[in-house]
Amino acid sequence: MKSICGVTSTDSAEPPPSAAEGVIELSAVSKLERFLDQLRAFYGALPAPPRDPFTLFVWEVLSVHSTPYKRDAALAALKRIRALTPDAMWRAPQKKLEASVGLAGPYNEQRLRALRTGVDIFRRSPNLPAVIRGPVVPARRALKGIPQMGEGGAYRMLLFAADHAVLPVDAKVSRVARRLGFGDQQGSFTKTARSVREAVSTQLPASVDAYRHAFLYLAHHGAATCTETDPHCAVCPLVSNCPEGQKRDIHHGGHGGH
Ligand code: SF4
Repeated sequence: MKSICGVTSTDSAEPPPSAAEGVIELSAVSKLERFLDQLRAFYGALPAPPRDPFTLFVWEVLSVHSTPYKRDAALAALKRIRALTPDAMWRAPQKKLEASVGLAGPYNEQRLRALRTGVDIFRRSPNLPAVIRGPVVPARRALKGIPQMGEGGAYRMLLFAADHAVLPVDAKVSRVARRLGFGDQQGSFTKTARSVREAVSTQLPASVDAYRHAFLYLAHHGAATCTETDPHCAVCPLVSNCPEGQKRDIHHGGHGGH
């Protein structure tokens, strides 16, 4: 591309940029990126999941049937008793472990069982952190058997702890993306997730930061505003360009504020 630096309108025989070129420049920022910018302005900065693979696994187990506040309290307690490596958790006194994990809420027994399974796998595979940083297919295979490593969890591991530019699609991300027009409902969650990932991949630069940013804001929006049964479209910053929001707005009498 030709640089225009130092070139005045009189010393160049080139015609000025056409309207079409202007359009190309404007569309360099995709529709999804504009939505994400709006969500960033609406919610402010959001915390990201841990970057260490084992800590992220523990975070996943603590997140199920919990709240961010309780999950973070449990994680902080595990950090205080220095149980956030596979060996350290394996050695940790059971009573202290139970008390710390219990801060995440109910299902303590299930959580402790899931942690024990994960600790065994991490201890048996000391090269797991290196493997998941390698090619995606063997990386996903290496995560099999670790609790909470489904569509959302495994891809969160790849994105946040292994620097892969992939989109974790859990129920919230799937819902928000499809309502905004990225991906379709398919016969199974796996196929739906693939459809969302394909649609999103056309809208984002292939950078880990872009995917982390997209995941954080889509997931948070799905939890805070674009809820499953009663999305709060009237206060949503995306309503004027959201197909689902427009439909709901029409059905509810046009109070969407656009
Ligand atoms: S307008 Fe409604 S359906 Fe669309 S993203 Fe916002 S809350 Fe979700």
